[in-house]
Amino acid sequence: MDYLLIYAHPNPKSFNHAILETLTSRFDKEKRPFQVRDLYKLNFKPSLSSEDFISFSSNTAAADIKQEQNLIEQGKTLIFIYPIWWFGMPAILKGYIDRVLSRNFAYGVNEKGPYGLLSNKKVVIINTTGGPKEHYEEGGLKDILKTTIDVGVFGFCGIKITLHKYFYAVPYIGNESRQNMLKELKAIQID
Ligand code: FAD
Repeated sequence: MDYLLIYAHPNPKSFNHAILETLTSRFDKEKRPFQVRDLYKLNFKPSLSSEDFISFSSNTAAADIKQEQNLIEQGKTLIFIYPIWWFGMPAILKGYIDRVLSRNFAYGVNEKGPYGLLSNKKVVIINTTGGPKEHYEEGGLKDILKTTIDVGVFGFCGIKITLHKYFYAVPYIGNESRQNMLKELKAIQID
């Protein structure tokens, strides 16, 4: 599979959903095999439980975690689509990261410390924001997100980020600007 799209927005009429639709139509046209994991539709369980910890310690995982890990193994590029909420990701996606990118799957630990296990994967991240571009690019917010997400999550797992695209101030910019954003996605270099 070329692309595994991990999508986190609860509203099927949202702009994030339009991003998802734009990319999946593009991949259909390009005949690139893909699969979508719509975390809200799947009702993905986001809390890392004590049972999860017990199974990780014996190198097993709950069936829902194993299923997501199998899909990650099959996907060459993982595409995360989500809005910025409270300067991070929606809780359901944070829970996916907590549970699915587990020790001995996404990273290992030896006497020197942790090391990434997913260096054969590429990641694309597409975010929407409420805040304007200036706050993110000149106000340093983008650097903070780069540290916590690109480096702190995916870099830790050894994954290369090929694109981290922000669509700023999405609710406030008007329909024409939003249409232009979707147009940009139809041709943007992904991998
Ligand atoms: P929507 O609100 O679903 O849509 C925006 C507009 O696009 C709507 O008018 C919709 O009708 C229209 N639209 C839908 N489909 C299309 C289409 N095909 N073509 C054209 N227009 C379309 N922002 C920050 O910057 N930092 C934060 O920390 C932050 N925290 C937040 C926390 C919470 C809990 C919430 C709910 C929001 C927060 N926000 C924050 C704002 C949030 O990031 C934005 O509201 C979100 O990114 C916008 O994306 P959306 O998909 O939800 O847009």
